[in-house]
Amino acid sequence: MLSSLFFSQSCYGCDQQLIRQEKLICFDCLSQMEKTGFHMQPEQNELFYRLAGRVPMEGATSLYFFDKKGRLQQLIKALKYKDAPHIGLRLGQLLGHELADSAFMEAVETIIPVPLHRSKKIRRGYNQAEFLARGLASWLEKEVDTSSLIRQFATLTQTRKNAEARWENVGGAFLCKKSIPQHILLVDDVITTGSTLVACIQALISAPEPPLSIRIASIGMARQG
Ligand SMILES: [Zn+2]
Repeated sequence: MLSSLFFSQSCYGCDQQLIRQEKLICFDCLSQMEKTGFHMQPEQNELFYRLAGRVPMEGATSLYFFDKKGRLQQLIKALKYKDAPHIGLRLGQLLGHELADSAFMEAVETIIPVPLHRSKKIRRGYNQAEFLARGLASWLEKEVDTSSLIRQFATLTQTRKNAEARWENVGGAFLCKKSIPQHILLVDDVITTGSTLVACIQALISAPEPPLSIRIASIGMARQG
């Protein structure tokens, strides 16, 4: 009994017991999650087209497609609501593994996680996007910047809003506090409409010294339509 308490750890995606070689996520879950491969064509993919035209950027990618009730949804739920920031590090490393040696990452100097409002960060205890960024950065040896971009308003929860209400909800929510690194990658957990990232980019390009290039990466991209 006691030994199982210490040695049994279950997968955050499916609750099956992990074997020694598996780290937080089992091989079955990893094989079930469908990769997008968008980083191979960062300016010619569904995610880029979803955001392009609204704000300037040099490319967008997501590690996986995000399906409701899929394994990735379980992982993101654990990351956001079950006090499991280490899942963020693991998913960030998986993203790093995917993006390593890609032209997409070559120009990136600094990784900026989408910020949480201070009150929400206190409630949750951490910013999940920061853990994704740190996992990614540790794999690719990049800098993480959590101080240049801040969330100045605590917006209402997005989950029950339709697309139009989401745009209104996050507009102007972010602010740049100081000069920003020149070539940045913005990181978020799951992209749905992209309204949050667009609001971040609007704040970045309105800064006194805006970045020269902005790229986007997420762990999941919700399919539309
Ligand atoms: Zn699993």
